[in-house]
Amino acid sequence: MSHDCLFCKIIKGEIPSQFLYDDDDLVVFKDINPAAPVHLLLVPKKHIRSMNDIQEGDGEIISKLFMVAKQMAKELDVDVSGYKLLFNVEKGGGQEIFHVHLHLIGGWNRRVEKVAE
Ligand code: AMP
Ligand code: ZN
Repeated sequence: MSHDCLFCKIIKGEIPSQFLYDDDDLVVFKDINPAAPVHLLLVPKKHIRSMNDIQEGDGEIISKLFMVAKQMAKELDVDVSGYKLLFNVEKGGGQEIFHVHLHLIGGWNRRVEKVAE
C-alpha cells in the first residue's frame, strides 16, 4: 500500500468521503469532478497501481467491480437508460490516480428505453 495514495487514504478514512457502497473488498464513492449526472468510482481496497499491474489472483476483485457496478447502476436508476464503464490505464490513457478504479458514468437521459433483443 502506498502512503501517498489518495484512494488508500479515502479507503482508510483519512480523507473524508461518503461511500455509497462499502464491503471487505471495495468501496464506491462519487467522483469529485463528475463528467455526467451520475459519476461513481468503484475502488478495490487492495492497492493496485494500474490495470497493467493486475495479477492472476486479482481476477475475483476485478470481476466483483463489474458486478457491483451493475448493482449501483440499478440503484441510481441508470441501468435501463444506460451508462459507461471505464478504466483509464496509465498517463496516456487518462489515468491520474494510480490506484485502480472503475468509472461508472451515466444519467444523461433516464427516459431512454430498453432496446428489445
Ligand atoms: P483517473 O483519471 O481515471 O485516474 O480518475 C481519477 C478520478 O478521481 C477523476 O475523475 C477525479 O475527478 C477523481 N477524484 C480526484 N480526487 C478525488 C476525491 N478526493 N474524491 C473523489 N474523486 C476524486
Ligand atoms: Zn492506493
